[in-house]
Amino acid sequence: MTTYMQAAQVEQFGQPLVIQKLPIPTPGPGQILVKTEACGVCHTDLHARDGDWPLKPGLPFTPGHEGIGIVVALGDGVTAVKEGDRVGVPWLYSACGHCEFCLAAKEPVCAEAQFGGYTQNGGFAEYILADPNYVAHIPAGLSACDAAPLICAGVTSYKGIKETQARPGEWVVISGIGGLGHLAVQYAKAMGLHVCAVDIDDGKLAHATRLGADAVVNAKQDDPVAAVIEATGGGAHGVLITAPSLPAFKQGIGMTRKHGTCVLVGIPPGEFPTPLFDVVANCITIRGSFVGSRRDMAEALAFAADGKVKADIELQPLSAINEVFRRLNAGEVPSRVVIDFAAQ
Ligand code: NAD
Ligand code: ZN
Ligand code: ZN
Repeated sequence: MTTYMQAAQVEQFGQPLVIQKLPIPTPGPGQILVKTEACGVCHTDLHARDGDWPLKPGLPFTPGHEGIGIVVALGDGVTAVKEGDRVGVPWLYSACGHCEFCLAAKEPVCAEAQFGGYTQNGGFAEYILADPNYVAHIPAGLSACDAAPLICAGVTSYKGIKETQARPGEWVVISGIGGLGHLAVQYAKAMGLHVCAVDIDDGKLAHATRLGADAVVNAKQDDPVAAVIEATGGGAHGVLITAPSLPAFKQGIGMTRKHGTCVLVGIPPGEFPTPLFDVVANCITIRGSFVGSRRDMAEALAFAADGKVKADIELQPLSAINEVFRRLNAGEVPSRVVIDFAAQ
């Protein structure tokens, strides 16, 4: 085994990642070593690079929380996976396993949760250390590159739609048709929902239509809220906001039907004004949703294994990571870029 690996690291917030030659880590007790095959690039990786959020990762760190690879070494005492298994190392890197939230399958909000590619080094590296109790198990028949976007964008979209509590035959708005949103459209259709896609880019909206969206609204038009209310006959029962843009949040609340639920998953830094009278008088629920539990992960992957959901991916080598970040920030990535480690 070679003893060094390439890893793209954030050394300073707001600065380009630096590709370093680092020692391949050795799994300690209870850990596994994963040889990375593919890792999707999430908009969260941009927020991480820029230090956008109140909880900041320690520097330097390796981002990437859509890493898929093969288990190549086991630390002492590991029984949950075996060498040769294909696993994903997700945002929910580990949790305590015994707090009230862990016991209720709400482990993403565990106070001791660690986050992959954030508080722990992630998948923009040739090897990743992982916790075998929290890795995603990739179904046979899904390639590493196809699976990568599912372990963050997929599970987050799927869980977010469930959190809207919209039922088959009802309307959901998916606001933001990027990495998360293009999968959300597919999950929502597979779940029997009517979909109204909202974005600021006509190309993304055309893509949503190809993926099955029943209506599309460009948020740059004069009154996107009125357009959604018209298209959905009174507002959507569920609204999922994936857009990393503050104006989308107030608009999303306006697009929510009376007694509907607006689920927030995009995390642009900052705050947004809430139209209090409308929320109260229309009995609207506003709810945050943070990735998903391990059970949600298995369900989200099963949709793809059944052929009902497929990520649209563009493959790039690790050496292109800073150009990929630039394009993602500029809204120039059509759906999801996946770093393909076979291309190194
Ligand atoms: P992305 O860049 O791939 O897609 C964002 C999309 O939003 C683009 O299509 C863009 O055109 C569109 N958009 C921008 N402004 C808009 C507006 N005003 N109205 C409607 N659409 C608009 O990003 P992504 O990887 O899908 O991530 C989206 C957000 O979700 C990020 O903030 C990310 O950090 C967050 N995220 C949250 C979770 C969670 O668990 N809650 C998980 C993953 C990602
Ligand atoms: Zn993500
Ligand atoms: Zn816990």
